[in-house]
Amino acid sequence: MNKKIAVLAGDGIGTEIMAEALKVLRKIEEIFGHKFEYVEGLIGGSAWEKYGEHFPEETVSVSENTDAILFGSVGGPVDKQMEPKWKNCETNSILAIRKHFNFNVNLRPVKLYSALKDACVLRSDIVDKGIDMLCVRELSQDVYFGKHEMSGEVGMRHAFDEMSYDEKVIEAIAHAAFKAAQVRKKKVTSVDKANVLNCSKLWREAVTNVAKNYPDCVLEHVLVDNMSMQVLKRPGDFDVILMPNMFGDIISDEVSVFAGSLGMLPSASLNERGFGLYEPSSGSAPDIAGKGIANPIGQILSAAMMLKFSFGMTEEHDAILNAVEKTLAEGLRTGDIADGGKAVSTSEMGNKIVENLRGGKI
Ligand code: NAD
Repeated sequence: MNKKIAVLAGDGIGTEIMAEALKVLRKIEEIFGHKFEYVEGLIGGSAWEKYGEHFPEETVSVSENTDAILFGSVGGPVDKQMEPKWKNCETNSILAIRKHFNFNVNLRPVKLYSALKDACVLRSDIVDKGIDMLCVRELSQDVYFGKHEMSGEVGMRHAFDEMSYDEKVIEAIAHAAFKAAQVRKKKVTSVDKANVLNCSKLWREAVTNVAKNYPDCVLEHVLVDNMSMQVLKRPGDFDVILMPNMFGDIISDEVSVFAGSLGMLPSASLNERGFGLYEPSSGSAPDIAGKGIANPIGQILSAAMMLKFSFGMTEEHDAILNAVEKTLAEGLRTGDIADGGKAVSTSEMGNKIVENLRGGKI
């Protein structure tokens, strides 16, 4: 299969971990006989240095003319956010690209690899039951996109944020969740606050209606406050977790700690045409950038998600997951998951994963 991929590595560790994901993709091409064309584009602070803007027209055009976008991360050190190069960098690049392509579905798998059980914050009797869930978050509506106002004198001020949802938008994300569940454990947990909010009442009704199209899947509804506890007490009981934008923002961060490190987590953002952007869940980690010690697994698993969700390459996706699992089982650890033990470099981790892809050598 021939595919064209926009490679937007970005800033900080972005370029370091992207290099490892590209090694893995090249090996996948060789093993499975595909031909991928990689087109690079600048975004974030690196784009600002050349173009004076964070998401320049050249990068828009590179991204538009490909089959998928593989994204690294953007942003500078937290104490330099007011410098022109970094000011509003994340808003101007990652939020802008999400808006440009109308990404409305966000997928974040959270899997605890058995070799990393000790890196999980939860008790071992909970972890032993296994953690493998997929957060499906609606990205295009909810309170973030309503009217925001603040008025009045200090001490007497009033603040207002509008929350709204369209039934069609809820139906679209619900279909995405059920389709994902059909190829997993066939269970969808929908999160809302239907005892209080009208948006949630509509959410619950619309999701229940969509569920009728997927008789092979089980649907349960859980209130968001209860969900924040249940997911800690019995994470192994959840498969696909379907959430509106704000609840998804919060719960997906909560469950991300189960994987042992932010550096382990991939994500995908898809639009209604099925076009997707794939990126690790972490940021540009300026504190470790340039040292060659970042964990590349989140970026490598993001590339794997791209193969599955944008190109329909399930076998290739699974081969990457197996190679990651094997590499961890063999004891390789970057600093973030080494728990004080021996740590390998970013490229050593990437090389070993490539080697473990059907036993190939880089
Ligand atoms: P961060 O996710 O970059 O880092 C948080 C902590 O996790 C740091 O200690 C970092 O070293 C560690 N970490 C993150 N990824 C790692 C990896 N792959 N391997 C090992 N350790 C890793 O968050 P932050 O420090 O709050 O933000 C830094 C910059 O990233 C900011 O400019 C922020 O705006 C930006 N950011 C960008 C995105 C994005 O591009 N989508 C997302 C979040 C934050």
